[in-house]
Amino acid sequence: MEGTMDAVCYHAVRFPSLTHFPNPKLITNHLLTKTSGSQPRELDIVTVPIPQINDDQVLIQVTCCGICGTDQHLAEGEFIGRFPLIPGHEIVGVISQVGGAVTGFSVGDRVVADNTILCDACFYCRRGQYVLCENFESLGVTMAGGFAGYVAIQSKKVYNIFNLTDEEATLIEPASCAIHGLDKLDPPVGAEVLIFGAGPTGLILAQLLKLNGASKVVIAANKGPKTAIARSLDAGDVYVELPRDDPEAAQAQLDALNGRVQEGFDVVIEATGSEKIANDAINFVRRGGSLMIYGVYANSDVVHWSPAKIFQDEIKIVGSFAQTHCFPRAVAYLDSGKIKVKGMVTDVFSIREFDQALEKMKSKTACKVALRP
Ligand SMILES: [Zn+2]
Ligand SMILES: [Zn+2]
Repeated sequence: MEGTMDAVCYHAVRFPSLTHFPNPKLITNHLLTKTSGSQPRELDIVTVPIPQINDDQVLIQVTCCGICGTDQHLAEGEFIGRFPLIPGHEIVGVISQVGGAVTGFSVGDRVVADNTILCDACFYCRRGQYVLCENFESLGVTMAGGFAGYVAIQSKKVYNIFNLTDEEATLIEPASCAIHGLDKLDPPVGAEVLIFGAGPTGLILAQLLKLNGASKVVIAANKGPKTAIARSLDAGDVYVELPRDDPEAAQAQLDALNGRVQEGFDVVIEATGSEKIANDAINFVRRGGSLMIYGVYANSDVVHWSPAKIFQDEIKIVGSFAQTHCFPRAVAYLDSGKIKVKGMVTDVFSIREFDQALEKMKSKTACKVALRP
């Protein structure tokens, strides 16, 4: 297709060390490269040609694309990306052109795109451990993504949606990551679960756990719009609302929670990205239980856990990075309505309002923020 489109662009100017991706292995490890914390980000709106598609690709006209913590880190020059970059990896749109070798898709189809690109040839891919691919690429992180008018992508990465709105469908990529997380967590049938955080990930993980055998899901989060959304979605069984501006009162509430549940939880999930909560979360894990670390943290954050406790209590610590091949299940859960996402997208901005969208994310008054071209 001929023509031009508007796109958000992160430039390489401020991140000279990141213009060449130094070591592909690093991205599979989700490492954040520290440039200088005080460096301002350099981004603007550019007008670029609409991408040309190959025979095995489709052209998606973007209707909506979600913003998440990764984009914030990229904007700050912290996350490993390849610049200049059009970010946006939670891509929803309508097929506007179909490559010559593509079957099963037509112009006008409403779709979501799996942003991951795997090499299929490295040490890990050859062992079937695709999420550890040494040449892991991602639309919106190392290649042009969805904060733009159009995206070109291989049709094998594209999935039809029918019932979700464009905004709701931005949650399919985060849900795919949550499904991978749950695969890794492998919770026991009847697990009692405590989740810290009621952001999109927390709310999706909570519902996934309820659908996959948890007998009780407790959601602990700061009082605010997110906990109201959690209740409206019936995401958990029990809600603990922590006062945001009163850390002592919040601590007292958590202590009380700990007192009420002497035996702790089979599964504790840290999904707030708070260093302090990550540090304390282990105290809520039952002997023989698991702690899953599932937030976006500052590079400098560290935790102090007692190895004796982990040893004696046989605690499993689980990390989980991104996803591969989880889109079919995420589409099935969300498009069927089994996992509810209505109302999770609280704010929608145009591409030209990208700065405001980032500010809104930082303000903690939004649940999910999305962009429309
Ligand atoms: Zn994301
Ligand atoms: Zn590979």
